[in-house]
Amino acid sequence: MLKADMHMHSREDQKDIVDYTAKELIDHLASLNFNVMALTFHDQSFKSEEAEKYAKSKGIIIIPGIERRIEGVDILIYNVPHEKVIGMKTLDDLKKISDENLQLRKNAVSEAENIIENEMAELVKIWQTESESEQDPRLWH
Ligand SMILES: [Zn+2]
Repeated sequence: MLKADMHMHSREDQKDIVDYTAKELIDHLASLNFNVMALTFHDQSFKSEEAEKYAKSKGIIIIPGIERRIEGVDILIYNVPHEKVIGMKTLDDLKKISDENLQLRKNAVSEAENIIENEMAELVKIWQTESESEQDPRLWH
């Protein structure tokens, strides 16, 4: 089981008042045996290779996220590029991006299934060719 907190802010968040840095937060979470954290700053994605490396050294993965107020509701959005999130003005925009992401995931799964099916078909062909040659007395040594 993974221990996670998917809604966090730190001093680097320009629209929040927090008195600890991302590094201090990582230290705190590490002391509590967390494995996953999401830094969800207001209208801003926090991308820090240094923080990611530091978290990784403590056994923690940082999920990229943004907290966005849309139609008066604070919504946590993960793994969506900053430009797309900032472009969201309505809940319909959010649904559109969500539907697009769902379709991308479905396409990726379908593509992976096709690759696996093709690999399996290739393996079956190789196996059939090998077992046929084993049964052909002309090929016996
Ligand atoms: Zn928040």
